[in-house]
Parts: sequence; C-alpha cells; structure tokens
Amino acid sequence: MEVQCRGKIILNSNPLYCRLQVFFVFLRKIVPEKPACSHFLYKNSVDTKYIFVTGGVVSSLGKGIISSSLACLLKARGYRVTIQKFDPYINIDPGTLNPYEHGECYVTEDGHEADLDLGHYERFTNVRTSRANNVTTGRIYQSVIDKERRGDYLGKTVQIVPHITDEIKRNVKLLGNTGKYDFVITEIGGTVGDIESLPFLESVRQLRWELGQNSLCIHLTYVPYIRAAKELKTKPTQHSVKNLQELGIQPDILVLRTEKDIPADMRRKIALFCNVAPDSVIQSIDVNSIYKVPLKMHEQHLDEIVLRKTGVTPEGEPHMAPWLDFVAKLDSATEPVDIALVGKYVELQDAYKSISESLFHAATYAGRKLNLVYVHSEKLAPENVAEKLAGMDGVIIAPGFGQRGIEGKFTALRWCRENDIPTFGICLGMQCMVIEFARNVLGLEDANSTEMDTKTPHNVIDLMEEQKSISNLGGTMRLGAYDCTLREGSRAAQAYGTTHISERHRHRFEFNNDYRERFEQAGMACVGENPATKLVEVVEIPGKRWFIGTQYHPEYSSTVLSPNPIFRSFIDAAIAYRDERLAKK
Ligand code: GLN
Repeated sequence: MEVQCRGKIILNSNPLYCRLQVFFVFLRKIVPEKPACSHFLYKNSVDTKYIFVTGGVVSSLGKGIISSSLACLLKARGYRVTIQKFDPYINIDPGTLNPYEHGECYVTEDGHEADLDLGHYERFTNVRTSRANNVTTGRIYQSVIDKERRGDYLGKTVQIVPHITDEIKRNVKLLGNTGKYDFVITEIGGTVGDIESLPFLESVRQLRWELGQNSLCIHLTYVPYIRAAKELKTKPTQHSVKNLQELGIQPDILVLRTEKDIPADMRRKIALFCNVAPDSVIQSIDVNSIYKVPLKMHEQHLDEIVLRKTGVTPEGEPHMAPWLDFVAKLDSATEPVDIALVGKYVELQDAYKSISESLFHAATYAGRKLNLVYVHSEKLAPENVAEKLAGMDGVIIAPGFGQRGIEGKFTALRWCRENDIPTFGICLGMQCMVIEFARNVLGLEDANSTEMDTKTPHNVIDLMEEQKSISNLGGTMRLGAYDCTLREGSRAAQAYGTTHISERHRHRFEFNNDYRERFEQAGMACVGENPATKLVEVVEIPGKRWFIGTQYHPEYSSTVLSPNPIFRSFIDAAIAYRDERLAKK
C-alpha cells in the first residue's frame, strides 16, 4: 500500500498502520489550509531539509533577502522554518565591529550580538532567531580549541578537515536536530572564492553528500548590464559556478541578481553551462522594495522548486494574503511622512537598518510613504538646527557609542523639545534626552553620561553597577530581551496597549535613579522600568505632542506582519503633526 502525505510516500504492509495513515491523509483533506494547525498535524511530517545559500561574483547581492524570501514562502505554506547565517570572519560575533565595517549589530532575544541579516530573517518570517542562528569562524575555532585543551580529541592532530569542518557541520545541524523545523536555511556569508569561506564550503559539500535529497544549494550570482555595450553578461555567473563546482558543490538552483530582465534564451544558456535545470535559473530583478522579493520569487516558483527538489510535493498556494495587503499598502501610499534620523553613521545607512525598516513598517501601515532624511549629528549646531530639521514631521535620535557627534544630538533635542516636534530617542538617543533635559531644564549645566565624561558632577546617566568590574568588550553589555512595566495612562502604555512589555537591549549605561525625583517634578516622567531591577527603561514628557525615549531597542522586534507598536505610535504622532500644520496653511 502506498500513501502520500505532504510529499512523503509512506509504504507499509501492516493493514492497521495503513488505515491509520489513510485516516491522517483524510484528516488533512478535511482540515482547511491553516498554517498554524498544520504545525501540529504534520509535525515532523517532512524530514528536516537543509537549504544552503551561497553567493558569487560580488558581495551585497542580497543573499539575506533571498534566504528570507524563501523562508517567508515556505512558512506561508505551513512549514516550520528557520534561517541561520555562517560568517567567515574571525570575530566571535559582530558585537565589537564598528558599524562602518559591517552595518548594524542586531540583537536576538537571548542576547546574542548578531549579523544584521538576522534582522531580515525575523522581519520576513516573524520567527525569532537566537545565538544558534549566527555562527562565525571565530566561534567555530574557539569551540574546537576549547575541546583540544580539554583533551577531547584524544591525542589526535587537530586539523581544518575534519575537526573544523565537523564543528561547522555540527553547528549547521544544531537547530535542525531540535525537531522544531522542517526547513533550515543556511546562508554562507562572503563570496565563493574567498579563502576564509573554504572550510564552510567544504562542510556544505560534505553535508550535501550525506543528506542527499534532504539538502540543496541555491547559488546567488550577478549578471551585470554593460551600459556602453547595452548587454547583459553571463560570464561572471559561469565563472562563479565553476568555482563552486571545483569545490565539489553543484548548485541546484541559481538566482541571478540583475537590473534588467534576463531573456529566456540567456537563462537557458546559463542553465546549460552550469548544469542546472532551466526552470531552476531564476532572476532576481531590482524592485523598489525588498518586501516584493518573496512575490517575485514565488512568480518564478522558487518555493515549489525547492519543495520538489527536496522530495516534497507542493500542495496549493502559500498563504500570502497579509503580506500582499502590506505590499498593496506600500504601493498605494503617496502622501509622505518626513522623518529625520539624527546619528553619526549616516554615510552608511545599513548602520540603522532595523530603525529604518521599523519606520517603514509603521508608515506603510499608516498609509504613508516614508521619507527618511539622515542628518549627520556632527554637522548639527545651534546656528543650523532649525534649517536642518525644518519641515520634519518627526525626529529620531539614534543609538550609538562614544563622544563623537553627541553635542549635535543635544542640539537637535533641545530644538525638538522647545518646538514640540514628535521626537523618539532610542538607547543613546534616550540617554541624550535625559542629559539635555538635565542641562537645560533642571539647570544642571555639566550633566552628562559617565561614558562621555567620567568626571561629570551630574552623572544623570551612569555605568550600571554590574558593568563596573567588566573589562572585556565582547558580549558583555546588557543584552537581549528584558521585561518592562509601563505606567498606566502613559503615552508609552497607550502606544503598546498594555503595561507589560518585553524588548531587547544593548547598552552599558543607564538612567541614574538618584535623579529620578527631580526629573519627575520638572516634567520628564520615568514611565517604564524593569520590574526586578527598577532600571528606568522609558522616559517621556507628557506635556508634549510625543516625546519618548526608550533605553531598549524596539526596532529589533518590528516585523512586516507584526510592526512594533511604539514605532506605529510615533509615526501616527508625526502624521497628526503634519496634518495639523497643513490644516493651518
Ligand atoms: N553607549 C550607550 C551605552 O552603552 C548606548 C548604547 C546604544 O545606543 N546602543 O549605554
């Protein structure tokens, strides 16, 4: 007897077993398509499949977006999906990296400082990531060297193959082995041909061999358009696939990043030269929003191809209705909302990736087109602040570290507070709100954070007690999700619609509770605190249109299908302020 259930052929000669299987297939037919319940019904109904995403030709092609888009589609088909990133650099994690090096440092709920691609993974899938979702060469070597020191290798010579590759393979399978996922998508950072990627690619080769049909490789390459010749060129793609083949990996699917439509015959040519099935050569053409990429991938059947190639029969269509609603909103929004982001890493917009995406989610849900203007805090001074921030509907004061650009943040904040502009301070931005208020409202002239001035007479922001004995920089901040209780009736509580929230942190300094009373009396309310430690997490000036600072980073938890409420509230306030001014004209 042969029964097919979610693409898995079940063969069994035991009649009772067969009847049970038939019953389950029958149940599947009568239960309506509902991804959430399919998790229960079909738990482990497919063996965990491992999808590897590699990149060639150049970096920044958007492997993270392609991985996220595929995950989004598989999730919308009811599968349990997680995405992980393996980065070939030696740093243990990106926590100590300057944002100019690698863009924003993303933080997971369990307090891991991670690559910014994990932000995309969460925003596209609504599935939380963790420390296990981001592994670097540094972590792999650290673990192997620790094992060697413990004597775990029993006197063997410790080598890249097999010890490093085995450790990589163990980490690749870590999440899959929990039994919680049907699909584990592994993005390999860097590009094929990098010396430091080699152990990762050798591990992918071995895993492809061991896992057979339960794995596949998607290779993302670039098809440049040579403007002078008016031609698309496939040679770089051919070379990068050859490179991969030399390492023993045959890609199953090619995703070609391009700015122009790649004609069918050119795709067929690529298929032929690269040993890839013609329908598995997919183009990823530039679109005006990354959130359209899942739809573009689905149009070319990427999700179905992945299912088929891993031995799963695709059934029906992915449940993309909420996603389509969001995309329809972003397409129909015409009226802008103008937001300024004051920070010091503005030359590199990836440094504020999660903030800009959260603002975009909120603006889109409000039916507006986000116009985000980056304002360099080092270039802001009392003489030009009115001109630089003129016409803005709302201002964000960005997170950050160190003295550089800090005075510009105080200048912006004073101007925003005095002119009652909707203002949102995040982490260092919140700390700057406190310092500016101390200096200009409480009259504590030299008030500061001890991060900027260790000798300040008014340390309104000070190092957390438990931080004082810490000397190592990596992974030692207050990191990850912490509970926060919001004051009933506060603007922040209204925004969240609850008084109990949990948000992610990444900081060493905090509001100094010795000053709390004075701030409250002068009109800056400490409306959010950690229930256990009483650390101040949210401040606001109730008398203003919208003036809130959060010690935590709400941007890490905003996703397309679940935008963060405080960003929504901020955008709504900015729109109201804009409309108020327009009405007066
Ligand atoms: N530098 C500040 C601190 O460590 C703020 C950090 C941040 O903005 N993420 O407390």
